[in-house]
Amino acid sequence: MRQYELVERVQKYKPDANEALLNKAYVYAMQKHGQQKRASGDPYISHPLEVAAILTELHMDESTIAVALLHDTIEDTTATRAEIDELFGEEIGRLVEGLTKIKKLDLVSKKAKQAENLRKLLLAISDDVRVLLVKLADRLHNMRTMEHMPADKRARISEETMDIYAPLAGRMGMQDMREELENLSFRHINPEAFETVTRRLEELSERNEGLIKKIEDELRELLQAEGLKAAQVKGRQKKPYSVFRKMQSKSLSFEQLSDVWGFRIIVDDIPACYRALGIVHTRWRVVPGRFKDYISTPKQNDYQSIHTTIVGPSRQRIELQIRTRRMNDIAEYGIAAHSLYKDGEGKEGASADAALSPTSNAYSWLRRTIESLAEGDNPEEFLEHTKLELFQDQVFCFTPKGQLIA
Ligand code: MN
Repeated sequence: MRQYELVERVQKYKPDANEALLNKAYVYAMQKHGQQKRASGDPYISHPLEVAAILTELHMDESTIAVALLHDTIEDTTATRAEIDELFGEEIGRLVEGLTKIKKLDLVSKKAKQAENLRKLLLAISDDVRVLLVKLADRLHNMRTMEHMPADKRARISEETMDIYAPLAGRMGMQDMREELENLSFRHINPEAFETVTRRLEELSERNEGLIKKIEDELRELLQAEGLKAAQVKGRQKKPYSVFRKMQSKSLSFEQLSDVWGFRIIVDDIPACYRALGIVHTRWRVVPGRFKDYISTPKQNDYQSIHTTIVGPSRQRIELQIRTRRMNDIAEYGIAAHSLYKDGEGKEGASADAALSPTSNAYSWLRRTIESLAEGDNPEEFLEHTKLELFQDQVFCFTPKGQLIA
């Protein structure tokens, strides 16, 4: 990634982006990091530049990209908060300082310390959710480039990622980020299991070469023939960590796993989701007990989709997710996706800046968690509570009077 490529990427989704700010932040970070090198021997500046690049995939605004470029300057160079405030303004200064505070936290230390540090982390990100987005991108780039680190440091960082950052990304609705963080950590935390599952998945995809494509085509043709012209179908094999987790939680061997493939049907609007569901259920047999409607009842991290499992073409059990384009963006980018819909497409109830408003469930979860910080004064209890909340999936029940409780 080069400086000009970064600017071009931002301009692609935000044509009026402040180019001067981006260039100024780059030049400042470059000068400050000077001759510093990463463990790999690469010039240090390659790291903040890649972190910024990850954030362009989430279509973040230029202030956030500038913060990414500057994120290690206060901690690792002679830069100061005052200097950054003066050059880039108070807002950027505050965000860079927030990231500096988080960097010093050790989240896999002893229980009591870990609890205290988790509180500090949540406090820092509650100020401005962009701190969390930059932190997640920073962690992702570090996880992608860990091979030159000493083994003990690798293990510690992987553990922290698996325990705290991956679930946080999930809680904020950022499923792609969560999945990549989990798989990178899995590789270092449990290398043997990682190798085995990865090898099995490779064998499987060789043996079934072309099958995913075939099922995609068949699904798409059927939907189009039934009048859903714009339906997109995308299939994929699951990732090693999610396969491993399923084997563990259900005590299954690899051979017993039936749904290693997932297919996604993306359509224009909500009525089309239910039409697609009807078409698929009419054509293929449904596996009982697997149907979930997260469109009528969204998850707490704003996720919406219909899930079902069918005995599909080629007699394979396949998992299907049916959703609109907007739901798909939110499923992949979570709170970051709300910025894509700032212009308010109205149709599906998009509100400007939803990520920062109480209408976002993900953000209000963060708010509530932070409020509970003030109440409990036992840090270990808080740690258990928060960890529980992070890992818990959602359960719905009805009261005798018919009220729905999540
Ligand atoms: Mn960094």
